Amino acid sequence: ILIMGMETSCDETAVSIIKNGTEILSNVVASQIESHKRFGGVVPEIASRHHVEQITLVMEEALKTAEVTYTDLDAIAVTEGPGLVGALLVGVNAAKAVSFAHGIPLVGVHHIAGHIYANQLVDNLEFPLLALVVSGGHTELVYMKEHGHFEVIGETRDDAAGEAYDKVARTLRLPYPGGPHIDRLAAEGEASIKLPRAWLEGSYDFSFSGLKSAVINTVHNAEQRGEVIKPEDLAASFQESVIDVLTTKTIQAVKEYKVKQVVLAGGVAANKGLRAALEEKFSRIKDVKLTIPPLSLCTDNAAMIGAAGTVFYKKGQRALLDLNGNPGLDITIHN
Ligand code: ATP
Ligand code: MG
Ligand code: FE
Repeated sequence: ILIMGMETSCDETAVSIIKNGTEILSNVVASQIESHKRFGGVVPEIASRHHVEQITLVMEEALKTAEVTYTDLDAIAVTEGPGLVGALLVGVNAAKAVSFAHGIPLVGVHHIAGHIYANQLVDNLEFPLLALVVSGGHTELVYMKEHGHFEVIGETRDDAAGEAYDKVARTLRLPYPGGPHIDRLAAEGEASIKLPRAWLEGSYDFSFSGLKSAVINTVHNAEQRGEVIKPEDLAASFQESVIDVLTTKTIQAVKEYKVKQVVLAGGVAANKGLRAALEEKFSRIKDVKLTIPPLSLCTDNAAMIGAAGTVFYKKGQRALLDLNGNPGLDITIHN
């Protein structure tokens, strides 16, 4: 099965060609980070305009690199949501145009299902499975009893992990996106500053806004008193708090749901501290396989959309030409 994956939900214009849901023939990503940097975040209108400029070029390059043409494709899988509506629409409409012109079946994919299925490009998935999703807009634990079936057992009640990283980075006057900068600083510092952890009465939900505020208050109080706090120590303390909560809740859920595999997903999965902590913890847990994608498959890409799309295509899911971008799409549409 040969599938074209397409992703335009945020600030990456991405197209891939994926064979049998596991093999990457091409994976082209045009990032817009440079255009959004000076605004300190993604500007939706600018994102849409860049997608319009890039999408056909990126599609052509993906086909060319994979050495295939439209007639070779079994389906086109496109991110339907969630994301910025104006950005989603560019990918959805390009996918519909090609689907109609070449008579290729269309499959709509939930962006987070895509992030989870990035793991299928590196490892065989074994069920039941637990996905720890940590991205710019989501932080959740997703239980999967089988392929293409998603149950959210816990999610953030306020900020996503990536959002907290980006806001803390802004407080430390680091460039956007701040996650990788905090990660780098954290490795150089000591986690010597006491910061809160939100356990939320043993539920699998998360909360990072209290932690974010504590970091901001720490910086402001120090500034007022004329004290100096080492940014690397603050980064290390913040990161330790995030990792502590994420790993503890994941292990708790692994035990309760008796899963065979844990997969890490989303942009924050690129975090070196989180990857190392999970690897260390799971090396001591027997009979549970831990899978972590390479950095390029953690942040937004279309290979993951092609991988997920292949699963949904095999399950018989099809989108029609009335497919629309849906910013509030629920992952259980695939169940
Ligand atoms: P969503 O997937 O929820 O719709 P998104 O697509 O905008 O959101 P991703 O592209 O999956 O988010 O991830 C981007 C986020 O990942 C940003 O918040 C960024 O700071 C964070 N991130 C990237 N690398 C790292 C890292 N090394 N450490 C921590 N955070 C990171
Ligand atoms: Mg992005
Ligand atoms: Fe994403």
